[in-house]
Amino acid sequence: MTAVHALMNALTDASVRIVDLTNPLSSTTPTLRLPEPFENLIDFSMDKVSEYNEPGPFWKHHNIHTGEHVGTHIDAPIHWVTGREGHDVSTIPAHRLIGPAAIIDVREQVEADPDFLLQIEHLRTWEQQNGPLPENGWLLLRTGWDRFSDDQEAFLNTDETGSHTPGISAEAAKWLAEETPLSGIGVDTVGIDAGRGAELDPPFPVHYHLLGNDKYGVTSLQNLDELPTVGAMLIVAPLPIVGGTASPSRVLALVQESA
Ligand code: MN
Repeated sequence: MTAVHALMNALTDASVRIVDLTNPLSSTTPTLRLPEPFENLIDFSMDKVSEYNEPGPFWKHHNIHTGEHVGTHIDAPIHWVTGREGHDVSTIPAHRLIGPAAIIDVREQVEADPDFLLQIEHLRTWEQQNGPLPENGWLLLRTGWDRFSDDQEAFLNTDETGSHTPGISAEAAKWLAEETPLSGIGVDTVGIDAGRGAELDPPFPVHYHLLGNDKYGVTSLQNLDELPTVGAMLIVAPLPIVGGTASPSRVLALVQESA
């Protein structure tokens, strides 16, 4: 039996389960809000052209309008100044978009401190317990933040000092970018950098280091609590927008249910 045949059989008999990690995309999907003086992207919106009526008697169809970085999406290297010579979202090689998922669970730390930053020591401990971070893989930061993913205010958690959401330290971002064979990282918050990422050195270090090292970032993931620490396979499916810096993406995981 071929590997593809075995996989199809496993999907049919549900010994491999598909977990959808995508936040449904609508005009109310939480999106990043940059502080003044920066300019924000538009939110997702949809307007009707026909609905089985005169403009199109047998069909319904819409125009959609959206920023690139809306909802569950992937950041391509050209999004950041450090990756400006790199891939746009249409040229990211397909084989980099499918690979092993490695989950690091920091829900307890984040419960105590919404500004929690993952450090290199957390990654070293994870590797001692689970082995090295995988080639072509995705490190997924499970913070529990997806419980706010239908509520713009709670998801961004902004006060007069800025947004307070967890993320990755500058040192850990550099280490992940330069010392691991990952394809990228994924988070369950609105951006691949922490809410207070502007205050780090360099500012927005995950964008700076990962996108500058041909690694990618996926945001606004959900349902990470349904994935095992290792062993799941991640599929990231962005639209191949030519010249695009990001794209809303369907993100799926394949999880072994039984042997
Ligand atoms: Mn983005």
